[in-house]
Amino acid sequence: MPVLFTHHFMAMKQNLPTSLFSDIRLASAAVVDGVWVVEAQKLSTAAACPRFQVVSSARHSSYQRRLWDLPIQGRPGRPVRITLTLGRWQCRNVECGQSIFTERLPGLVAPRARQTRRAAGILRLLGHGVGGRPAERLAARLGFVGSRATILRHLLRHQRLPDHSAPRVVGLDEWASKKGLHYGTIAVDLERRTVIDVLPDRSAVSTARWLAGRPSIELIARDLDGLYADASRQGAPQAKQIADRFHLIQNLRAAIERQLSGLERPIRGYRANSGRRAATDSLPPESKVGEDEAGELTHVSGRPFLLAAFAKVRAMYDAGKTVATITRELRLTRRIVDKWVRLESLPERARMAPKSSTPSRFATYLRDRWTDGERNVCRLLQEVREQGYTGCYSRLAAFVAPWRQKAEKKPTPPSLVGILPPTLERAE
Ligand SMILES: [Zn+2]
Repeated sequence: MPVLFTHHFMAMKQNLPTSLFSDIRLASAAVVDGVWVVEAQKLSTAAACPRFQVVSSARHSSYQRRLWDLPIQGRPGRPVRITLTLGRWQCRNVECGQSIFTERLPGLVAPRARQTRRAAGILRLLGHGVGGRPAERLAARLGFVGSRATILRHLLRHQRLPDHSAPRVVGLDEWASKKGLHYGTIAVDLERRTVIDVLPDRSAVSTARWLAGRPSIELIARDLDGLYADASRQGAPQAKQIADRFHLIQNLRAAIERQLSGLERPIRGYRANSGRRAATDSLPPESKVGEDEAGELTHVSGRPFLLAAFAKVRAMYDAGKTVATITRELRLTRRIVDKWVRLESLPERARMAPKSSTPSRFATYLRDRWTDGERNVCRLLQEVREQGYTGCYSRLAAFVAPWRQKAEKKPTPPSLVGILPPTLERAE
């Protein structure tokens, strides 16, 4: 025999939706197996048939629905199950083919649902907020009865899924599920501004297959890499390919950087070739290359090598050799080969011009002044500031410090240390 508490019974009454309370009579409330079981009955004298909304007062019989409602909070919190007795009615509408209908409770519960609307609403919010599995744990802690599957079902039922039929303009890009480790492909409907799909890998084959299943695609916005271009050619030959805005701007930025660093180099080269050679010749080779120029040096000697290697990789790949074979035969890393086979040409190495806060941006001027005999950092600071230097005194002092040290050691003019990469000297 279940225990029945009057004060809990009153709590039950308050727990039921008040708007429907007027014609719902509570019969009993009892804890059975840790669950508050509330028995209630709908008192109606008539009901509307769901098909044509024609009201009938001819009661046929009754039936029971079991609904999980909001749990009672307390020690312990307990789930609440309502056993609601509802009427079956005869439809007297001649147009309606249904002779008997069951009474609906639109404000309380959806047809065939097992949770009241308000309980389902909270489960849905939990699911939406924290995801299925944590929502399941949280819901259980709060006294709800609902598995992960139930929570996700509530989410799906409520959420009208976006319409992905017949996309016209599609954006393709790589998508990292684990940055640097695992890349997939993301497809976006650019007109509806929604994600259509996420493919588990980043391959031309699977992307082409995906595209082939969507013949409505007219435009594909993609990155500048060859992979999605290949995929688009194979899977959606009818579509026009365009570079997406992000990659266009990225390209523009890279081009500007190249242009700027290209401007920087001839000036250095010019200085290197004009008139300073005699002085540097007298320096021991290791002192001629400063820290700054080490990078330049590998750049000069490295570029032709890279170009040759790139051409070889492309030729072997075009001849039908696999990436693995090329990697082995040329003794390159797999990553490089993987990247190169997808490129039309080897991109120019991006070399950013030094910032206005770096003294090296004003190196040419500073060296000239140093050669002229100016050793006062304060005066040099004032001069480069007039030219746009935004850095501080100590950086500038640190920049000229090696020249000063070498000047103390060597009788030769210290101004030229670090100007020339030896390869340029030898070229003359
Ligand atoms: Zn009817």
